[in-house]
Amino acid sequence: MPPPYDAIVVGGGHNGLVAAAYLARAGKRVVVLERRERVGGAAMSEQIFPGFTFSVFSYVVSLLRPEIIRDLDLPRHGLHILPLESTLTPLPGGDYLAQWNDHDQNRRELARHSLRDAEAYDEFGLLMHQMSRAVKPILGLIPPDPASLSPRDLAALARLGSHFRGLGAERFHALHKLLTMSSADYLDEWFETEALKATKAASGIIGTLLGPRSPGTAYVLLHHYMGEIDGVFRAWGFAKGGNGSVSAAIAAAARSFGAEIRTAAPVARVSIDNRRAVGVVLEGGEEIRAKLVVSNADPRRTFLNLVGEQHLPAGFADGIRRFRFRGASAKVNLALGEAPNFTCLPGNGPHLRGAISISPSVEYLERAYDEAKYGEFSRRPYLDIVIPSMIDPGMAPPGQHVMSIFAQYAPYDLNGGWNDARREAFGDAVVDTLAEYAPNLRSAILHRQVVTPADIERTIGLSEGNIFQGELTLQQMFFLRPVPGWAKYKTPIDGLYQCGSGTHPGGGVMGAPGRLAALAILHDSA
Ligand SMILES: Cc1cc2nc3c(=O)[nH]c(=O)nc-3n(C[C@H](O)[C@H](O)[C@H](O)COP(=O)(O)OP(=O)(O)OC[C@H]3O[C@@H](n4cnc5c(N)ncnc54)[C@H](O)[C@@H]3O)c2cc1C
Repeated sequence: MPPPYDAIVVGGGHNGLVAAAYLARAGKRVVVLERRERVGGAAMSEQIFPGFTFSVFSYVVSLLRPEIIRDLDLPRHGLHILPLESTLTPLPGGDYLAQWNDHDQNRRELARHSLRDAEAYDEFGLLMHQMSRAVKPILGLIPPDPASLSPRDLAALARLGSHFRGLGAERFHALHKLLTMSSADYLDEWFETEALKATKAASGIIGTLLGPRSPGTAYVLLHHYMGEIDGVFRAWGFAKGGNGSVSAAIAAAARSFGAEIRTAAPVARVSIDNRRAVGVVLEGGEEIRAKLVVSNADPRRTFLNLVGEQHLPAGFADGIRRFRFRGASAKVNLALGEAPNFTCLPGNGPHLRGAISISPSVEYLERAYDEAKYGEFSRRPYLDIVIPSMIDPGMAPPGQHVMSIFAQYAPYDLNGGWNDARREAFGDAVVDTLAEYAPNLRSAILHRQVVTPADIERTIGLSEGNIFQGELTLQQMFFLRPVPGWAKYKTPIDGLYQCGSGTHPGGGVMGAPGRLAALAILHDSA
């Protein structure tokens, strides 16, 4: 009897849902099996406290690929992105640096700090735009293997080579610098205002256990620059209803193409018969068979837990064991009785409808990292804050607010390990840090949720709590993600594919790995 499904997708994170939608759209019979009672993985919304809805983990959108929005018609399925207007960096002495979407306003504000930086800013923006355009095609590409002699790989490498040759010498050299330098060193070449350098450098450290002075972080900065909303480069926004509505829209699209989605369906193992994946066994013992299994779980979980080393070639298993996670990020979600009142810009205003970054200087960020390097959490962490209810009032009761605080560094391998006391101590460090700039914060807090890397691992299954299913560092990207020779979603087990952020082009609410995995599967099964 033929198996009831063409493909089982293990995990209903947004990438699993994207893969399922593309496969179902191509006429495949697909079932998604999600371990939790809700889909979305790290892109989910939840009413944690009555009346207050949070994007519990990921909180802003930018990288979601425009072709996915189009192909899956996500706006019709409920996706609505609201743009973020600004980034405010409050400074210790009561001043601030604001970056506005409006060009002239932004230039005036930069000139207040440094005329030289105001002059350099446009040129920097143009170069980053060009660099993003140079790298962006790679986001939509199944990575060719430079060590392979197959005609398909050679042709793709030749196309890539001619793409980069087309950049011209100057831009190619700039790209090389971005790939190799630290974000702090790179930004030193452009700007002198500490808060500007630090706020930009912060994009280079998100999700990694690296500091702004660590080589390679300039590329991560570029990765965050590649976002686009409605054709506007580098724009970041909120999904109305929180990031869970991105996943809900993708799930609705998948269902509209005929995909089945089962929640509370934890997969215990992938069934392997004669070196071929033939289905899965759920934790309750139910066996489900399919022609293919596609894993949205991260590479460690997929291969070492669900498959088992005994089924893997030795070199491949070693590669998976070496793949680095080292989660360093945490979230603090606050329900507030009133809006925060910043000393530097008192009262309500457009600055509360954008991002707020606690990154006064590069030294501040590097010192925060120093503590994490030796296994402690930062007592004065880097914070990236948004107040979604300022833009989307439905997230909180009238007059009250939800505040999302992304915080680094909170190393997974904390000295002595994470426990309730350490979690709350880190929550206190975050609140104390922010209260230095917004003194009414403490008294405004009605409820607080602190999410450490250990909580991220336990709740959504991201190994070591790494937000990207594995560090986004150069040695783990492109044809090396997750293992050299196995970056094309296919695995050494016949009929088993990967589709999560642990594959090219990596993490973020981007959907690209899910789409590329589906395209690889459709190509292989054509
Ligand atoms: C705290 C935090 C903040 C972030 N902030 C942002 C942000 O603001 N913007 C942004 O773009 N990105 C952000 N990210 C990163 C982004 O959210 C992730 O990279 C992305 O959501 C990962 O999606 P995914 O589908 O690849 O994997 P996941 O979201 O990890 O989904 C994997 C799914 O597989 C399921 N699963 C695992 N094992 C099994 C099993 N055995 N059986 C069944 N199901 C299983 C899991 O439950 C999960 O639902 C953040 C992440 C975190 C954690």
